[in-house]
Amino acid sequence: MLKDALPKINTPLPGPKASAILERRSEAVPGAIKSVYPCVISRGEGAMLEDVDGNIFLDWVGGVGVLNIGYSHPELIGAVKEQTEKYFHAMMNIVTHEGYIKLAEKMNEIVPVKSAKRKTMFANSGAEAIENAVKVAKSYTGRPNVIVFSGAFHGRTLLASTMTAKKAYASGLGPFPDGIYRAEFPYLYRGPEGYSEEGAIAYYIEKLIKVFEEASPAEHIAAIVVEPVQGEGGFVPAPIEWVKAVRRICDEKGILLVADEVQTGFARSGKMFVSNYWEEAGAAPDIIATAKSIAGGVPLSAITASAEIFDGVKNGIIGGTYGGNALACASALKVIEIIERDNLCARSLEIATKVKGAFHLWHEEFEEIGDVRGIGCMTGIEFVTDKKSKSPNARLVSDIVIYCAEHGLIVESAGTYSNVIRFLCPLVVTDEQLDCGLSILYNAVKACR
Ligand code: PLP
Repeated sequence: MLKDALPKINTPLPGPKASAILERRSEAVPGAIKSVYPCVISRGEGAMLEDVDGNIFLDWVGGVGVLNIGYSHPELIGAVKEQTEKYFHAMMNIVTHEGYIKLAEKMNEIVPVKSAKRKTMFANSGAEAIENAVKVAKSYTGRPNVIVFSGAFHGRTLLASTMTAKKAYASGLGPFPDGIYRAEFPYLYRGPEGYSEEGAIAYYIEKLIKVFEEASPAEHIAAIVVEPVQGEGGFVPAPIEWVKAVRRICDEKGILLVADEVQTGFARSGKMFVSNYWEEAGAAPDIIATAKSIAGGVPLSAITASAEIFDGVKNGIIGGTYGGNALACASALKVIEIIERDNLCARSLEIATKVKGAFHLWHEEFEEIGDVRGIGCMTGIEFVTDKKSKSPNARLVSDIVIYCAEHGLIVESAGTYSNVIRFLCPLVVTDEQLDCGLSILYNAVKACR
């Protein structure tokens, strides 16, 4: 079975069939939808994929966080097939379908926003979830402005790319929506020199408060939007003491705290959501946006908030044709059932222990590994030219990505400086596959440094 296989490369990459398809790709598809991988999938199972030439790859990217339960889970196939035989779609403004309601009920049970009385609406992508979270926050508070962070990634629609820090994602797209203000994210590895962790957190909180003085008064801020672990920004976790301080500021100033759990959600962190850790620390967010692994590869996203917040939203401003599509809802209900039943949060922690254990040893061995960080299985390695200067080493990361692909391991870079390797492996990976992936990555670091 492919799901139990180990990586095996039989042809030079890309192989002959893949080369032909990639050539057609470059003719038919915009080059700006970039890929560096010599891999064209024919099928996938668990954490493994086979390409059109019969090469087998271990996938540590999982569709960038979409495949926490892996490729082609048989029960997921069954659930979607069963739904296709009833109906594909019912538009919720016209015909109510029960899958939407059941999934909203389930999300209200498991998504830890601050209130116990919750409501959920669905959209199609992560960017849409964020757009809707902001619309809901503005409509409920009656305030115009939003605070986001350095290093943030929230998607590629106009509002989401305005909220996104890296302007390479929005080059030449202005004018951008007004009222988006940016504070510094607590990126402790690159924090202010000579500060303790506590001191650095106080420094970042001061920077946040400065936004009220220099950009927008707090009474005009509808929401502060945080990725609990920055994804594209380089797998940088928000320290819990910082989150608690932000929560206190939000409470004092009547601002809604929005968690963008698009990449962090659905057992990746060792809990269903990183916001579960926040909740335990008394800092649950007001609105949580989710997507990616929610439906195992069928496009779906969700926005969960208290009933009070959603009931304060004006009619007509939220909704959409496909949000909460019937196939996607059937898929998501099954994904959540599998995560809960198979205890994938515990498996996530088990995998994290193994992977982080190896990464920490490498950190001691290699001058070029500056930092290893993350929460649970959302783990990254930051590469530098040397530990003292901390100069980002994007060249090394790019070589590692290519080396790994050529040896049957798909890994992806991240980070403002593209110098982080991120670990987003499906949580159904076997121990043997994990060992094999670790050995390919280790050899890559040795060969490419
Ligand atoms: N928010 C975060 C944290 C993400 O990581 C992403 C995508 O990577 C998005 C939003 C945008 O999601 P989508 O690409 O589905 O629009």
